[in-house]
Amino acid sequence: MRVEISRTLLEQIVALAAADANEVCGLLLGTSDRIEAIMPAANIATDPARHFELDPAILIAAHRAARTGGPAIIGHYHSHPSGVAAPSITDAACATSDGSLWLIVAGHDATLWRTGPDTAVNVHFTKIHLDSR
Ligand SMILES: [Zn+2]
Repeated sequence: MRVEISRTLLEQIVALAAADANEVCGLLLGTSDRIEAIMPAANIATDPARHFELDPAILIAAHRAARTGGPAIIGHYHSHPSGVAAPSITDAACATSDGSLWLIVAGHDATLWRTGPDTAVNVHFTKIHLDSR
């Protein structure tokens, strides 16, 4: 299982993360095997240094655009300013097993995961090969 992203787009996400002491977040747009664009969102979490919550206004706008022929929402990205590029315990607790993609950035590392299906206790993250060129 692999998903493509252009090097330019991946570098853009890494740069957004590097420029912010808090977690950054946004939507991933594209097809099931290619991330074609991002839509950065404000992080409205009450503790944005350690958590993220996408501004629902962006979600509404993206869903509206997708319905009228815009790119599909395939998942989201967020950063771990002082952590590793892998789902945290909080991420696992907040995830739903909807098959969406999670791109997680820490420093210069970026990893991609797909959620679901549920195990008995929590959501299962499957690591996806991120093909950037
Ligand atoms: Zn996280």
